[in-house]
Amino acid sequence: MLREFKLDAVVTPESWRHASEKGSFMHELPVIKSVLDICLKHAKTNGVHKIVSIELKVGELSDLEPEWMQNYFNFVSKDTIAEGATLKIERTPLIMRCEECSDSFPVNIKEMKEIECPQCKGKKVTYVSGREYRVENMEVL
Ligand SMILES: [Zn+2]
Repeated sequence: MLREFKLDAVVTPESWRHASEKGSFMHELPVIKSVLDICLKHAKTNGVHKIVSIELKVGELSDLEPEWMQNYFNFVSKDTIAEGATLKIERTPLIMRCEECSDSFPVNIKEMKEIECPQCKGKKVTYVSGREYRVENMEVL
């Protein structure tokens, strides 16, 4: 019988604070491995025999296409109980925070060149989220 676990674990690529440089493959791939490790660890402590699917929320700034996330996952999960599992990927918006007034606001990735605070028009902004990978749920047998 299929069971579902809520994990709610976040993996963040190390380079994410320099996201304006645009992530490269090299930064994104170890994240997929971390996602797998989290799932395997959780599976082990819960007596899981097989991981069927994993629900992932991926920040909009991640350069990795869902197809490649799945490809790489297939590669790293080979010969584990997660082999053959499907990644269910959902994109989450980029959120930034103004350092002047502390307002948080979503940013359209296509308009990233001129980011200013919608409240006070400040230009000093930092990332709140946008590159992280959140492991939401997994379906297991
Ligand atoms: Zn502001």
